[in-house]
Amino acid sequence: MGLAGVNALRAGGEDKANVQNAVDFIATLRQTPDKSTLPIGRDVVVIGGGMTAVDAAVQSKLLGAENVTIVYRRGQEKMSASGYEQEHATSAGVRIICNAAPVAVHGEAAVAEVEFAYTEDSADGLKLTAQTFRLKADQVFKAIGQSLTGAPEGLTLTGGKIGTDAAGRTTLAGVWAGGDCAVGGDDLTVTAVAQGRDAAEDIHAQLSAKGA
Ligand SMILES: Cc1cc2nc3c(=O)[nH]c(=O)nc-3n(C[C@H](O)[C@H](O)[C@H](O)COP(=O)(O)OP(=O)(O)OC[C@H]3O[C@@H](n4cnc5c(N)ncnc54)[C@H](O)[C@@H]3O)c2cc1C
Repeated sequence: MGLAGVNALRAGGEDKANVQNAVDFIATLRQTPDKSTLPIGRDVVVIGGGMTAVDAAVQSKLLGAENVTIVYRRGQEKMSASGYEQEHATSAGVRIICNAAPVAVHGEAAVAEVEFAYTEDSADGLKLTAQTFRLKADQVFKAIGQSLTGAPEGLTLTGGKIGTDAAGRTTLAGVWAGGDCAVGGDDLTVTAVAQGRDAAEDIHAQLSAKGA
């Protein structure tokens, strides 16, 4: 099932025009044969710290955006995008700002600026400080994670994902889960494929045992 839901920023003004989910942008980009027809902002701000954020930022730069900035709420070492991905972004001309979280999206009908507060990450959790700054933006991509939606009733969820055993069996007889929607793993294609294979083998073994 993957993770079809997109997390909200929970910052005032995020419903303004040109504030978009990064996943939707990437989906459109991948399905557009002539990329030169895709509109892109001059000042693009990407909020998030994972592969989706890096992907949206690098693609924005390649489409011709002048300034592209990724803003991540925790320290750089906590970004889920690997060091390689981060370098991929910076070498494409993307700026990365860490320890800052969005507090408001400003503009009339469309976004014009995003306001951030610097954060402090302590044992008590992430706290916003009183120190704020604004980034000019005519396009904002939200890449702050995806969530599970529409899971069949009766499945046990842990941390918002479907719990399974090592073979991918869920708590519901006859239902297996794997990939992004399941607990564990690292939300990579190779993991989803491997878990799909493991589940298929287990389903085959179970059906074969019934037939014997
Ligand atoms: C922008 C971006 C960049 C990424 N880059 C990388 C990368 O470089 N390398 C990498 O390894 N991973 C990357 N990933 C992660 C990778 O895409 C996922 O880990 C992988 O696709 C998970 O596979 P999945 O089968 O669990 O879910 P998905 O690929 O999300 O597939 C789930 C499918 O199930 C369908 N579905 C949902 N509900 C139902 C239903 N009720 N009935 C029928 N169908 C349903 C959905 O429409 C979807 O097609 C990236 C992800 C994103 C968003």
